[in-house]
Amino acid sequence: MEFKATYVSWKEIEEWTKGIMKMVIENHYNPDIIIGIARGGLVPARMVADYLFKKDLLSIKTEHWGLTATMNGKAVLREKLNYDVSGKKVLIVDDITDTGESMKLSYNYVKSLNPADVKTTSMLYIDGSNYTPDFYGKGLSKEEWAWFVFPWNVYEDTYNLSKKFMDAPVGVGELKEKLAENYGLNVEDIDLEEVLENIAALKMLKRHEGKFSIP
Ligand code: AMP
Repeated sequence: MEFKATYVSWKEIEEWTKGIMKMVIENHYNPDIIIGIARGGLVPARMVADYLFKKDLLSIKTEHWGLTATMNGKAVLREKLNYDVSGKKVLIVDDITDTGESMKLSYNYVKSLNPADVKTTSMLYIDGSNYTPDFYGKGLSKEEWAWFVFPWNVYEDTYNLSKKFMDAPVGVGELKEKLAENYGLNVEDIDLEEVLENIAALKMLKRHEGKFSIP
């Protein structure tokens, strides 16, 4: 297997974001501002803002990983805040702390803006990461590492993982087998045909007689 990839369900997202909520409440942290790290932390941050009844939801953007499961050198801060957080209590939210570089960068940046306090959270935390968030939904050992395909990244990841099998036209059944063999992906978790059809509508794939290929 090249590496393991797993589709994540909305039910798991709810469980993990509620895990964050519980830890925040148990620790009596009452943030004034929630910051989601785009893009992966945007939906979790929105959910946590709902659970905690917070209206001040902002975002910053970091870039670290490029194509699915491929790291692009160092983590970079692409978009900063346009908001005065000085004297405020901040909660930073992301989807996963993997190497931890993105969270470390985000924490250091927000901390430099003189807030009263900053706490960091992510739904998933991989043991051995360079940065340990204050609160997280689920901790994973290094052995449990996988590329997690979150519900908001199904199209991009499925496309990136599939395209190397698509130089020649491939049927949905055959592609399912390739994805299972190479990444342990359980494609029954999504409607692969619908995803491929919608990607073909964007002209990023060619559809011919029920098979798909790179144009
Ligand atoms: P990192 O800087 O390595 O902690 O990760 C930065 C961002 O890349 C995370 O917030 C995710 O959006 C994405 N990412 C990193 N590792 C994974 C993974 N194993 N599965 C899915 N997304 C990941």
